[in-house]
Amino acid sequence: MKREIIGKKCMKEKTNLFKEVSGDQEWTKNVKGIAKGNYLCDFCGFEIKKGEICYARSIVSRLSSNQYYSWEDDYINTNPVLIKLRESN
Ligand SMILES: [Zn+2]
Repeated sequence: MKREIIGKKCMKEKTNLFKEVSGDQEWTKNVKGIAKGNYLCDFCGFEIKKGEICYARSIVSRLSSNQYYSWEDDYINTNPVLIKLRESN
């Protein structure tokens, strides 16, 4: 499994690139949340500051033994109430 943190701007502007897929060989999963620390967007390298909305993206190969496990909570807060609050201001 490949893990990426993607900034809100990239997720919005590169929608096609980051859309979730479920293919024969791989599938992807995007989880929206609030950054728990300061990160760099894995696509563009732009800074994602703690407290900003970002996405945890998993790319999982069906052919690999390295299967998906839940990792998002270590990096982002996925509480929907907090996300809504964050997005409204
Ligand atoms: Zn980016």
